[in-house]
Amino acid sequence: MRCHKCGETPMGVCQFCGRAVCDQHHGPMPFILTIFVGDNQIPKAVVVSDALWCGTCKPQPEPLPMPEIY
Ligand SMILES: [Zn+2]
Ligand SMILES: [Zn+2]
Repeated sequence: MRCHKCGETPMGVCQFCGRAVCDQHHGPMPFILTIFVGDNQIPKAVVVSDALWCGTCKPQPEPLPMPEIY
């Protein structure tokens, strides 16, 4: 597997789209792993504050409407 931008050996895979990225081309992006309700009924999100990100794809924070499917 190679970095999708420069072809170098990747240091990891984008958490959002699965592209391989090297040390030069990755970037940080908050990544919500899961949301759960705590003891006091307040929802909490488990977030990785600097998940590996390729810098190319655009993770959406909310689902997008796709009316053309219907
Ligand atoms: Zn690269
Ligand atoms: Zn990506």
